[in-house]
Amino acid sequence: MTTGTVGRDVLTVHELIWAGDVLRPRCGDAGLEDEVVEWRRSVNCPECLRCTLPPSACLR
Ligand SMILES: [Zn+2]
Repeated sequence: MTTGTVGRDVLTVHELIWAGDVLRPRCGDAGLEDEVVEWRRSVNCPECLRCTLPPSACLR
């Protein structure tokens, strides 16, 4: 699993999935301009953890 943070919020670790050729948080909690940074940390974003659908179905 790829995990990381988005934009200026470095405390919330999302599950990252590929959307086309870019990594996006699984919960969709990011603007297109927000920088996604990969971390080796466990996911703590409740929205990402709650989503049990296939990643492609989770992107909003
Ligand atoms: Zn998330």
